[in-house]
Amino acid sequence: VGAGYRGRFAPSPSGPLHFGSIVTAVASFLDARHHGGEWLVRMEDIDETRTVPGAADRILRQLEAHGLAWDGEVVGQSARKPLYSAALERLTGHTYRCACSRREAASCQCRAGLPPGKLARAVRVHGAPGMEDFTIRRADGLFAYQLAVVVDDFEQGISHVVRGADLLDSTPRQQWLQHLLGYQSPEYLHVPVVKDPEGRKLSKQNHASAAEEEHAAQTLREALQFLEQPVPEAGAPREILDQAVACWSRVRLL
Ligand SMILES: [Zn+2]
Repeated sequence: VGAGYRGRFAPSPSGPLHFGSIVTAVASFLDARHHGGEWLVRMEDIDETRTVPGAADRILRQLEAHGLAWDGEVVGQSARKPLYSAALERLTGHTYRCACSRREAASCQCRAGLPPGKLARAVRVHGAPGMEDFTIRRADGLFAYQLAVVVDDFEQGISHVVRGADLLDSTPRQQWLQHLLGYQSPEYLHVPVVKDPEGRKLSKQNHASAAEEEHAAQTLREALQFLEQPVPEAGAPREILDQAVACWSRVRLL
């Protein structure tokens, strides 16, 4: 790990952080701080249909309560659409218009031309060799997550992305977009996802409970245990994190 480490945590404000998202936040925080790096927070609110009013504020309160102090201003994607538009334009020549609804996009044939009488709705980009084409602007007009996250990571100078292994599948597509846009790819590290007793990933969709501010110290110790780090006996969240920063090792990063 060289100089100029800048990491980030990028929750979507579709609900409060649960234990699984705290684990990811802690891993990215510790990896950044252990390497003397910066740690930014970005709200991934590109999918406005999933944004829940008040969730972004709650997430920041949860991070504060857990001692996860970020650098700089919190950036939201909803304010950055001109940047995504510009990137979309720069991809011209690698993209085509697509007439499929979101549901139809899985069997899209629009690369060969739009079916007669069908209107362009989405924009798709040619995949890398061996990779399927994928949508970068959705049929509903919203920029796709893959494009937004690539532009944001570049614009914010992110050097290291530590995130959940559920996003492992996204990494090749993001690296491909970085290649097409002439961006340097950050280093990607993935953390195992926390699952419920039925083996499902903890998520807002399956009603994982919020990480309560008043239990922050205990939640941090459990997160460190999950990440196979030494677990401090006691202390306030900041003290626990200070020790964890010093001891951090990447054993559970994929
Ligand atoms: Zn299509």
